[in-house]
Amino acid sequence: MTEHAVVIAGGGPTGLMLAGELALADVDVAIVERRASQDLPGSRAGGLHSRTIEVLDQRGIGDRFLAEGQTAQVAAFAGTPLDISDFPTRHNYGLGLWQNHIERILAGWVGELAVPLYRQREVTGIAQDDTGVDVELSDGQSRRAEYLVGCDGGRSLVRKAAGIEFPGWDATTSALIAQVEMTEEPELGIRRDASGMHALGKVDYEIRDGEVVYKEGGTVGVMLTESHVGATAEPTLRDLSEALVAVYGTDYGIHSPTWISRFTDMTRQAATYRAGRVLLAGDAAHVHSPVGGQGLNTGVQDAVNLGWKLAQVVNRTSPESLLDTYHAERHPVAARVLRNTMAQVALMRPDDRIEALRESVTELLSMDEPRKRFGAMMSGLDIHYDLGEGHPLLGRRMPDLDLVTADGPLRVFTLLHDARPALLNLGEPGGFDITPWGDRVQLIDGKYFGTWELPALGAVTAPNAVLIRPDGYVAWVGDRTQLGLHDALTTWFGPPTAA
Ligand SMILES: Cc1cc2nc3c(=O)[nH]c(=O)nc-3n(C[C@H](O)[C@H](O)[C@H](O)COP(=O)(O)OP(=O)(O)OC[C@H]3O[C@@H](n4cnc5c(N)ncnc54)[C@H](O)[C@@H]3O)c2cc1C
Repeated sequence: MTEHAVVIAGGGPTGLMLAGELALADVDVAIVERRASQDLPGSRAGGLHSRTIEVLDQRGIGDRFLAEGQTAQVAAFAGTPLDISDFPTRHNYGLGLWQNHIERILAGWVGELAVPLYRQREVTGIAQDDTGVDVELSDGQSRRAEYLVGCDGGRSLVRKAAGIEFPGWDATTSALIAQVEMTEEPELGIRRDASGMHALGKVDYEIRDGEVVYKEGGTVGVMLTESHVGATAEPTLRDLSEALVAVYGTDYGIHSPTWISRFTDMTRQAATYRAGRVLLAGDAAHVHSPVGGQGLNTGVQDAVNLGWKLAQVVNRTSPESLLDTYHAERHPVAARVLRNTMAQVALMRPDDRIEALRESVTELLSMDEPRKRFGAMMSGLDIHYDLGEGHPLLGRRMPDLDLVTADGPLRVFTLLHDARPALLNLGEPGGFDITPWGDRVQLIDGKYFGTWELPALGAVTAPNAVLIRPDGYVAWVGDRTQLGLHDALTTWFGPPTAA
């Protein structure tokens, strides 16, 4: 039996991100992945929202994604675009980049961090006791870990084996999704009819002046709303052809599919993200309609919330109770995603009255304040963990400010590259002594001369100091006093080390 501190079931976007986070904290982590390679048969997620780009930037790997994708205004609510170009972030846009590329880049990073990835093996069973979890694999072997994290997707075996309930709502719509070749040039774009929305597009595209421009020829991406919900058989080329004929009157000479699948708006969330030594993240913890493109983004951000906490528990820096803050913080975030996807699906139903409602919502969202609020929600920039009353920064993302320090200019996000917390003193240099946490928390004296502005909230009072967690959220804000700092340091980064 091989032992690891942490075993991750599933090397999709969530599992890969979590593995990277744990490896940065020197945790002995391994991934068990069913797939033989990182290749995906179909496109799945189409890109990253602003906050996810920020989170990757915090680790110094944002540029790898930006170099391969195309930036554009992608945030939208029920089809209404939400321009975030005036938001106070370096990444005031989304990134068009298919999931297979996102996974390849993440896997490259995880490979650099030397995380073992056991491929072509499935987790088939788990048994946990007081000190760890035995993870049974399909090759007949087993792995022992102190903690197991199920990042094994919506049908998560880990979730089921841990006995975690997955309450929610059954599907109300179902769609065929595919990538195919066509002998005739199809009608690209969106079409609506009595059964709902359908879309044809090219897998290869460019963004010019903010508009998607499809390449000539090439693979066609097909999305067709089905007239019935609940089909269980795997969809075939024939199903796709018939569905195309029903909507467009022709199947455009469809052939050579590389991917035919189905998605629904089934909406469910794990009742708890932790059962003892078993945790859940990503689709294993929440599934919903893909509308708004939030699934992968939420999973990656789950991983960034959990990674440093699990690392501190495994490294004996913090008590196990720190792990409960993972559920407390991330469950409400995904619950909100579930709610907004349900609202969007409802608004997109083919019904004249619903269309009138959607038009009214579109009108509301064209006003500045609602656009900002919804833009911040859909791009993940408004996430607020409930860390109590206080300055508006508390529990919110730390902006990537350009600081001036005695050693020269410094971008805040560069402090987070190694996933280590930082106390940023913006007041009198040398005004803080955090020696008992000096082995864990960086102390930086710096100055910032600009205004402090948060997405959707606007300008906030400049703080005197901020304690930044490894996930980039603010754990403590100092005005002129240091009241509460030691408590915050202990809560988030463990008890002080004796002198
Ligand atoms: C049509 C469509 C469009 C989408 N568009 C977007 C979008 O634009 N933006 C967005 O953010 N999201 C989008 N999503 C959602 C996104 O694809 C998922 O949210 C994302 O893949 C979740 O990542 P994950 O790592 O949590 O799970 P997954 O990607 O499902 O990864 C789970 C991994 O676990 C492995 N695995 C499963 N079971 C086991 C086991 N027992 N043992 C070992 N390994 C196992 C699987 O092989 C897989 O690699 C879309 C989804 C669909 C279907």
